[in-house]
Amino acid sequence: MKLPYAEPFKIKMVEPIKKSTKEQRSQWIKEADYNLFNLSSDKVFIDLLTDSGTGAMSQFQWSEMMLGDESYAGSSSFLKLKETVQRITGFEYFLPTHQGRAAENVLFSALIKEGDIVPGNSHFDTTKGHIEYRKAKAIDCTIKEAFDTAIQHPFKGNIDVDALEKVFKKYPNEKIPMVIVTITCNTAGGQPVSMENIKAVSSLCKQYKIPLYFDAARFAENAYFIKTREDGYQNKTIKQIVKEFFSYGEGMTISAKKDGLVNMGGFIALNNEEVFKKATVFNIMYEGFITYGGLNGRDMGALAVGLDEATEVDYLESRVGQVAFLGSKLVEYGIPVQQPFGGHAIFVDATKFLPNIPREQYTAQTLAIELYIEGGIRGVEIGTILADRDPETRENRYPALESVRLAIPRRTYTNNHMEYIAAVLKNVFDKKSEITTGYKIVEEAPIMRHFTVKLEKI
Ligand SMILES: *Cc1c(COP(=O)(O)O)cnc(C)c1O
Repeated sequence: MKLPYAEPFKIKMVEPIKKSTKEQRSQWIKEADYNLFNLSSDKVFIDLLTDSGTGAMSQFQWSEMMLGDESYAGSSSFLKLKETVQRITGFEYFLPTHQGRAAENVLFSALIKEGDIVPGNSHFDTTKGHIEYRKAKAIDCTIKEAFDTAIQHPFKGNIDVDALEKVFKKYPNEKIPMVIVTITCNTAGGQPVSMENIKAVSSLCKQYKIPLYFDAARFAENAYFIKTREDGYQNKTIKQIVKEFFSYGEGMTISAKKDGLVNMGGFIALNNEEVFKKATVFNIMYEGFITYGGLNGRDMGALAVGLDEATEVDYLESRVGQVAFLGSKLVEYGIPVQQPFGGHAIFVDATKFLPNIPREQYTAQTLAIELYIEGGIRGVEIGTILADRDPETRENRYPALESVRLAIPRRTYTNNHMEYIAAVLKNVFDKKSEITTGYKIVEEAPIMRHFTVKLEKI
């Protein structure tokens, strides 16, 4: 018999979590204006809001915290992290930042200006926010298979190379400061990008002399999918695969709160010295001196260890395996989810789950609220609320998919928690015909409204 995966770690410390009743949760979510971001964490039983900064560190990371060098300039923790980033990514230049969006802010300040065009594969919300804030435009060139949750495709995060070339032909070269490839593609369901696709995008970018950058929050999970799904990579190590895909780009931004296995952190890594020098100025202005960039020395040390741990195959097998364990349970219950399963989360297709709720009443948000009331699970809407209004027309934007994302924190929950989550979804699915009204927005911010939006039940 083939042995199943098992976590390559055991548990040394536990953190209690609190149960509550449906009545309590109905009241709490109302008081929170039906926005799950407004709930205090003690009102949540299983928190799947995000996999960002919510994972567990290892004993080696914790011991590195004690070795943190808090010198303002040139700390040993910085040097340790710099060496690790160079070794793992292959990029020569490195700037720490306090998280992923800060890396975007610094790099985009150096490279993106008003009127620019930034093509990519379903840009992440903060990425898009930082592009649009500069009055530039993000163009989504993801393959169309990504937007049909029922289609099986091993690399739904891929870029449609023809669509990308059309963008290159349509706009003058100097208007396209970069292409951003997000690995894995969070917005499309944690879906990976193949090495073949990265290579094709890279050579097209070279042909048109447009730099290729990675938004690399889940680069290690992406490498695991390449290893297990793409011909020719089965016998390569994760670290070899990572090194190869980064070699096709000019640089990267990363939120280290994901595959960095830390609770806070980010960085920029680059090959181009000129861009590095420009970005350095903004890093000092926005983040801090270039050898800490908003991070404590101890945080940089823990991140250095985390990058090494995240790029080990046994860890990734249990990580991606646990997400697939939940996904398979849901499929068994007949629940519509994005397939194949993503690396960090299961995306529930809310349009198919709740056909009675029109998109104007925020289908995915309605489902997220129902899951919370039923079992104390906090997922997140990846749909119309997140998509914001069009910056010009101020109309709601309706994205191709209306989903609830159940993001699984790294090394945090057991498969019993996964069974519980699946049961909660099944209970709501069984009574879906009784759910007939959604929500309306009563207050919203002009950009990235999902964090603070206030809703009322219709
Ligand atoms: C999380 C994330 C970011 C932003 O990073 P923060 O650390 O949350 O600021 C950017 N891109 C992707 C793909 C992400 O998942």
